[in-house]
Amino acid sequence: MGNPSVKDRIEQTRHGVSLVTEQAGAKLKVRSAVVLLLAVCLSMIAIVIWEAWNSRQYHLHDKEVAMSNLAQTLASQAQATIKQADTLLFTLVERLENDGFDPAGLPHLERLLSAQRSELSQLHGMFVYDETGRWIANSNGAVVPDANNADREYFVYHRDHPDRGPHIGPSIKSRSSGEWIMTVSRRINHADGSFAGVALATIYLSHFLSLYDSIDMGRNGVINLIADNATIVVRRPFNEAEIGTSLANGPLFKQLLPTGNSGTATVRSVMDGVVRVVGFRRVEGYPLIVFAALDKYEVLAGWREESLLSAGIVALLLGFLGVLGYRLINLMKQQNRIQNQLLDAQEKLIEVNRSLELLALEDALTGLSNRRQFDLFIHSEIGRARRSLTGLALLMIDVDHFKLFNDHYGHLAGDECLRNISAIITENIQRPGDLAARYGGEEFAVVLPGTDYVGAFLVAEKIRRAVLHAGIRHSEGAEGVVTVSLGVAAYDPASQAQADDLIGAADKALYVAKASGRNMSVIAN
Ligand code: GH3
Ligand code: MG
Ligand code: MG
Repeated sequence: MGNPSVKDRIEQTRHGVSLVTEQAGAKLKVRSAVVLLLAVCLSMIAIVIWEAWNSRQYHLHDKEVAMSNLAQTLASQAQATIKQADTLLFTLVERLENDGFDPAGLPHLERLLSAQRSELSQLHGMFVYDETGRWIANSNGAVVPDANNADREYFVYHRDHPDRGPHIGPSIKSRSSGEWIMTVSRRINHADGSFAGVALATIYLSHFLSLYDSIDMGRNGVINLIADNATIVVRRPFNEAEIGTSLANGPLFKQLLPTGNSGTATVRSVMDGVVRVVGFRRVEGYPLIVFAALDKYEVLAGWREESLLSAGIVALLLGFLGVLGYRLINLMKQQNRIQNQLLDAQEKLIEVNRSLELLALEDALTGLSNRRQFDLFIHSEIGRARRSLTGLALLMIDVDHFKLFNDHYGHLAGDECLRNISAIITENIQRPGDLAARYGGEEFAVVLPGTDYVGAFLVAEKIRRAVLHAGIRHSEGAEGVVTVSLGVAAYDPASQAQADDLIGAADKALYVAKASGRNMSVIAN
């Protein structure tokens, strides 16, 4: 009845769509916030890790460069120290090979050696041995009876090797003074090239150690002077037991020296298992290698502190950010919940509104359309009838002597009677386009679209008879039962008549029916 539903449906759809969109939007916003927060946190962590890694590489590289420079400096120092002693050895060998081992000249030779030794502070002594290892001359004036050095490594080496270059043997404890010394030796030949003996210069290890100890190498740093045959010549920190130890299986000889005469690396020591940042370099002109190394753990101590501090600061920031983000997201969720509740309430309100609208168009007592719906309907139907030139009829129905009925049977019975008459009216109008309404009090109206006055009169009579035959007792009425009077009016589409004119005409006809004795239908003229 009536056509407000199309507009309603459009409105409803619009609400529904925006509702779903809004809820999806809210979810998306929370997810975006979570993603953003995670992205910020992950970025911060990534930056800190990247920074820490770079700084670590820088620290290691820095120390590698430092160790390389130190190895070069120490190699120059070792070369200069040994060169001074070796130069004396060279001239001594020249002289002995030219002049021979004349016993008469020996005291003079010893004085010369002694003088030369006192010129060089690093020089522990200079010695000459004959082909059997016997002491011929020494710079220290010490007379060791029956001393024989044929068992010493340098003696064996020169006896068995014809080469004329300087030889550096393993460090030893001096038989003459008990001190730790490095040996630099050269072979002496007879005129025929056969072995004639050995000239030996010994250098205090303390000369190297005092220098090495003055360099800050941390607690675990080492400086090694290593012979070509991989034995340790000097080592800082000094430990007697380690002198002469072979490093042939260590990373220096296995990995580093095969790649070049100098370099840097980070390797694990075979002696103590400590990982060190190392620099190494061969000593020019001598079969020696200088090896300087710092404990990697110590090298990275500063870096560790720095990294821990920045990690701590970032962790604090992240924590702060996390708490802030957590609260923000909770707030957003809460807001979304409230928004959803509001949307739900709005939806319910729309529903209630729709029901109210329906109620407002219905008569509460009889369930027929009310006066408002009747007005809307008759106006729209008159418009339609005028446009399509179809007929339209109106019945006005009034209960006869209803005041008497009320007075006699009571108001509640009156209500019941009105409900019964409403049902009878509804039963007797068959077309779905017809509308029955309670016009007011005990008065009803029936609109019959597409019906002329003849058809309308038939419907009126059907209703009248049906009410009469329903036999609702009315002892005060003329018939002994409840009756109704009806006014019938038909609308002429060709006329300029309005809804009020049609109602007026039906009313007049009803008046005539009342005046003519009631319980009858009268057509307006
Ligand atoms: P007539 O035959 O001339 O129409 O006489 P009548 O008594 O029906 O006419 P009148 O207009 O004098 O009385 C109408 C009565 O209808 C008055 C009123 O008490 C009663 N009435 C109106 N609405 C209701 C209602 O909702 N319920 C009940 N029980 N009575 C109603
Ligand atoms: Mg009346
Ligand atoms: Mg009446």
